[in-house]
Amino acid sequence: MANYLQMWKDLGMDIENHDNLCAVLPTAFGDTYLSQENRPAAMDFWDMVVADIHGIRPAELIEEQKKGRKVFGTFCVYVPDEVVLAADGIVTGLCGGSQFWVPDGEAVLPKSTCPLIKASVGARLGKTCPFFRIADMYVGETTCDGKKKAWEILGKDVPMHIMDMPQMKRPKDYDKWVEEIKEFAKVVEELTGNEITRDKLENAIKIINAKRKAIERVYQARKADKLPISGKDVLLMTQIAFFDDPERCATMCNKLADELEQRIKDGVSVFPEGTKRIMVSGTPMAIPNWKLHHIIETSGAAVVCEETCTGTRYFENLVEEGKTTLEEQYRAIAERYMGINCACFTPNTGRIDDIIRLAKEYKVDGVIDVNLKFCCLYDTEGKSVEEALKENGIPVLGIETDYTDSDAQQLRTRIEAFVEMLG
Ligand code: SF4
Ligand code: SF4
Repeated sequence: MANYLQMWKDLGMDIENHDNLCAVLPTAFGDTYLSQENRPAAMDFWDMVVADIHGIRPAELIEEQKKGRKVFGTFCVYVPDEVVLAADGIVTGLCGGSQFWVPDGEAVLPKSTCPLIKASVGARLGKTCPFFRIADMYVGETTCDGKKKAWEILGKDVPMHIMDMPQMKRPKDYDKWVEEIKEFAKVVEELTGNEITRDKLENAIKIINAKRKAIERVYQARKADKLPISGKDVLLMTQIAFFDDPERCATMCNKLADELEQRIKDGVSVFPEGTKRIMVSGTPMAIPNWKLHHIIETSGAAVVCEETCTGTRYFENLVEEGKTTLEEQYRAIAERYMGINCACFTPNTGRIDDIIRLAKEYKVDGVIDVNLKFCCLYDTEGKSVEEALKENGIPVLGIETDYTDSDAQQLRTRIEAFVEMLG
């Protein structure tokens, strides 16, 4: 990593402990990513971002803050980026995906909390992630119980706004979500000092829609029989989309999609013919959680789609553009975000429909339904997912894991057996 020592010191980070993280990340990335062959050239951009993950983008954010812009840290795909962008704010994802942060989270949370929450709290309290130090305000949501309680702890350390997510999708829940978004808009206006107007919101909607469309183009390329890109590379692209400037993200994803479309025309694949096609469904994989994808793709299979929040739930469906009033725009935003099917909703049959649809669209041979340990929501819903897939004749393997490597060998054995069973 380049030298950002002074910046990290200014952010009040625990330099000594942070050095330990910087020491292991390049090896983990090298082993997982750089060992792949024939990667698309456009992946250079994401490799460069990871190489300086705690440097380049944090430095950019600080420069923007010096110009008066505010940074909002978010933890969930339900928080509407458009609203922040319309007030000239910046969104940065804050979900923790490394075991490195878990012990600091466990110092204040029960061990029986999902690793994503423990890592996110640990990254802040342990002072080892610049993004968690830079954000002017955190935006939480009432999705799962673990997160709701985590916000109380984080809220003592950093300004926090919590969006009250509906748990059902009745018409009155849509109305409530519109109101919640409007309230969030007021908070954003107050912190940024900028008024959200219809035109500014329209522009923001277009920017975020363009980013979604660009990511979708990359996903479309994975529907090809000859896979032009690995699942690991797409996962990396999506993970970094949560941090990046949305317009640059769209440009880079479109550049990658151009290359992938050319590869499809040229019949270039990164996997041997006959490699089994796997869809991963379930809980999100925040950066640098590459564990499951790496095991799958070194066990004779390829990941062709992720039905997760670091996958299709992040980019599918657009906010309707061209509304004439702010009121209509907020409703259009609410409708798009309420279309995401997270297990925190009941009933949540839309997610089962999504999984079956995606399995068919991406022509998968099997689904690996993954659950982060102690995520009660996705664990419980796993049974319905399994039943529905079986009814549709799609093989499924349910897996529960965390961020440690302690179960890696066991997972590999199970996944290899599953891939072999696919014939
Ligand atoms: S799984 Fe649910 S709570 Fe977690 S990021 Fe996705 S939508 Fe939000
Ligand atoms: S994985 Fe489950 S428990 Fe963890 S933050 Fe997401 S919804 Fe909550």
